[in-house]
Amino acid sequence: MCGIVGYTGFREAYPILIEGLSMLEYRGYDSAGIAMINDQGLSVHKDKGKVDHLRSITNQICQGGPKIGIAHTRWATHGAPSLINSHPHCDQNNKIALVHNGIIENYARLKDKLIDDGIRFSSETDSEVLAQLIGIYYEDDLEMAVRRALLEVVGTFGIAVVAHDNPTEIIGARKGSPLVVGVGENEMLIASDASAIVRHTKKVIYLKDNNIIKLRPDQYSVTTLDNHKINAEIHNIEWDADSLAKGGFEHFMLKEIFEQPETIENAMRGRLLISEGTSRLDGLNLVLQELRGIQRIIFVACGTSWHAALVGEFMIEDIAGIPVEVEYASEFRYRNPIIDSHTLVFVISQSGETADTLAALREASHKGATVLGICNVVGSTIARETHGGVYLHAGPEIGVASTKAFTSQLTVLSLLTLLLGRMRRISHSDGVTIATALSKIPEKVRQILKQNDHIRSIAEIYAKHNNFLYLGRSYNFPVALEGALKLKEISYVHAEGYPAAEMKHGPIALIDKDMPSVILALKDAVYDKVISNIQEVNARGGSVIAIASEGDTNIQKYARHVIYIPETIAMLSPLLAVIPLQLLAYHIAAIRGCEIDQPRNLAKSVTVE
Ligand code: GLU
Repeated sequence: MCGIVGYTGFREAYPILIEGLSMLEYRGYDSAGIAMINDQGLSVHKDKGKVDHLRSITNQICQGGPKIGIAHTRWATHGAPSLINSHPHCDQNNKIALVHNGIIENYARLKDKLIDDGIRFSSETDSEVLAQLIGIYYEDDLEMAVRRALLEVVGTFGIAVVAHDNPTEIIGARKGSPLVVGVGENEMLIASDASAIVRHTKKVIYLKDNNIIKLRPDQYSVTTLDNHKINAEIHNIEWDADSLAKGGFEHFMLKEIFEQPETIENAMRGRLLISEGTSRLDGLNLVLQELRGIQRIIFVACGTSWHAALVGEFMIEDIAGIPVEVEYASEFRYRNPIIDSHTLVFVISQSGETADTLAALREASHKGATVLGICNVVGSTIARETHGGVYLHAGPEIGVASTKAFTSQLTVLSLLTLLLGRMRRISHSDGVTIATALSKIPEKVRQILKQNDHIRSIAEIYAKHNNFLYLGRSYNFPVALEGALKLKEISYVHAEGYPAAEMKHGPIALIDKDMPSVILALKDAVYDKVISNIQEVNARGGSVIAIASEGDTNIQKYARHVIYIPETIAMLSPLLAVIPLQLLAYHIAAIRGCEIDQPRNLAKSVTVE
C-alpha cells in the first residue's frame, strides 16, 4: 500500500529518495519519512502529511549528505497517521531503521512479550515490533538479524532496513507486498514500485515472496528466508520515465482518461484477428482443446476490476454461452468455493498486487483450478503466480481512481469473449462483426473526449449536489456501478449505482429535486424499458442526465441533459458509455476542489486485507 524507496551508491541519497517518494506518493500517503546514515549514525526525519511537507522540513538539513538511505510513504493500518507512527521505525537503541509495507498480524503478542522483556516502544504500529526484533538481533550482520526477526513474524511485509554502523548496505525482504530492486552502475535502488527506479536504471529484479536481498553499491545477493541462494533474473523495464509525467494535463486522472484511445488500442494490438473474426491470446498458455473443455468461468476481483468482470460475465454468457460467476475476492477467499477441473478462474487486478485477489488466486490454486490473470503491472505477483494471463499494456496508471485500466480490462475481456465465442457458438461472420466493431472503438472514444467542455458544463450545474443515482440495465448496469464509484472516490459525493429497474424497489424513495440521476439510455434491446425508468424519475421531480446514442433526438423529451456517444454493438457499449461518466466525476471533483489524484483514505494498490 505504502511506498518504499531505498538507495545505496556513489551519489547523494537525499534527492533520489525524495524524488522517489514523490513518484510513489499515489500509492499511499498519510505520512512520509526518511532515514540516512551519517557519521553520527542514523538520522531520521518523518512526519504526518504529504511528501512536499517532508521535503520542506528536510530540504535544508539533508542536502549534501550521505550516500545511503531508505524512505517511506505510509498508508496507516495500525495507529493513526502521526509523527510517531510514521516510518522509518528504529529499535530502542537506534541501531537499525526499517520501512515496512504490509501488516504484522501477530504484532500484539510479540509486542507484549518484548515489553515484558523491557523493550520501550515509541509508536502504535505493528511495524515497530519488527524494528525492535531486528535491533535485538543485530550485532554486525544485518542480513542475519533481519532473517531471524522475519522468522518470528506472521503477516505480510515488504521491508528495507539499514544499520547505524554500515553506511553501504541495505537489506530488503518481501512476503505478500511488492519489492523491486534497480541494478545500476555502482548503485542500487530498492522500491515498492518500478516508477521510483526507472529514472535511474531500467534493469530490475522483481523479488519473490520469502526472498531476502542484500544490497551494496556494486553487488547484490538474493536468498530465501531459510537461507538458500537464489539466482535472481534481471528484467528490463519497457516504459520510460516520461510516461509518468502529467503531459500538460492538470491531473494524472484526466491524462489517463484522455489516453484511452491509445491504451485500448494497445490492449488489442497483435491480438485482434479481424479477418478471422477471432483473437489470439498466447499468454493464456492454454491449448485450444483445454479452452474448449471449460464448462464454467469464475472472475475474481475487487472494486473497478470487479465491475469490469461483471461486464465480462454478460459478454461471455451472451456470446460464448459459458456460465460465468463474478466474485468479490475478499469473499471468495474465505468461502469454500466449488471448483472442478472444468472451471477456469480469472483474477483481475490493475496492480497485480491486490492482497485479497492474490489470496483468492492462491485459494483457487490450492483447489486445483487453472488460474489466469488479467493485470496491468508487468512482473507483478499475480502475473507471476498465475498459470498464464493477459497483460493490459496500459502503461503506469497513477491516478488512484482507475480509468484507463478499466477500459483496457473491458478490451481484454472482449478479446477473450471473441476467442471463446468463436470456438463454441458464433459464426465467422459474427466474429468478424464483433472484431470490426472492436477495432473502431478507439476512434469513437476520441469523439466522446471532444465533448469534454459539454460534460464540464453539466458538472458545473450539479457540482454542489450531495447525492446521485446511477442507473443502467443489461451491459450498462455495471457501467452505472462504475460511474457511481468514480464519483464517490474522487469527489466524496454519495452516489449509488443500481440496475435501472431495481430503482422502484427502494431507491426511488430518495428521489427529489436535489437528487439527480445519471441514466444510461442507449439504443439497445432495453431502450424502451430505460425510457420508462426515466419517466419514473421525472414524475418525482428528479433531474436526469442521460447517456444516449448519437442521433437519438427522442431522448431530449425525457432527459434534462443528454451526452451522446457513438453507436456500437451492445457488448462493446460499456467501453464508450463509461467515458462520459469518468469525465463527469472528474469535473465534479475538480469544481469541488478535491485532491483528484490522491483522494483521501484511498490508495492505488491495495496490498492489505
Ligand atoms: N502496517 C504499517 C503501519 O500501519 C504499514 C502500513 C503501510 O503499508 O503503509 O504503519
